[in-house]
Amino acid sequence: MGIYEQLVVISFLYPPSLSRFYCDYCDTYLTHDSPSVRKTHCSGRKHKENVEDYCQKWMEEQAQSLIDKTTAAFQQGKIPPTPFSAPPPAGAMIPPPPSLRKFITFLS
Ligand SMILES: [Zn+2]
Repeated sequence: MGIYEQLVVISFLYPPSLSRFYCDYCDTYLTHDSPSVRKTHCSGRKHKENVEDYCQKWMEEQAQSLIDKTTAAFQQGKIPPTPFSAPPPAGAMIPPPPSLRKFITFLS
């Protein structure tokens, strides 16, 4: 029996969610799960620190991935070098087609 099968059997025999409460933020199990134990844990200073830590890292990851995507797009020439500046007004950079230019000349 491989380690994976063993883990499947163990998790089947001892489902953590039924017997114990696992805290993702603290990466730890609460040995006795009850509403009051959870409440005590979640109002604890260590847990709050871990949650803050987690949020901080998550936001940093989001910001970093945004920077990475922008940099990659820039390197591939998909976006102009100043991605955060406002785009020019529509049509300002594009000269009107000859037919329209003739029409404008006719009107003026
Ligand atoms: Zn916790």
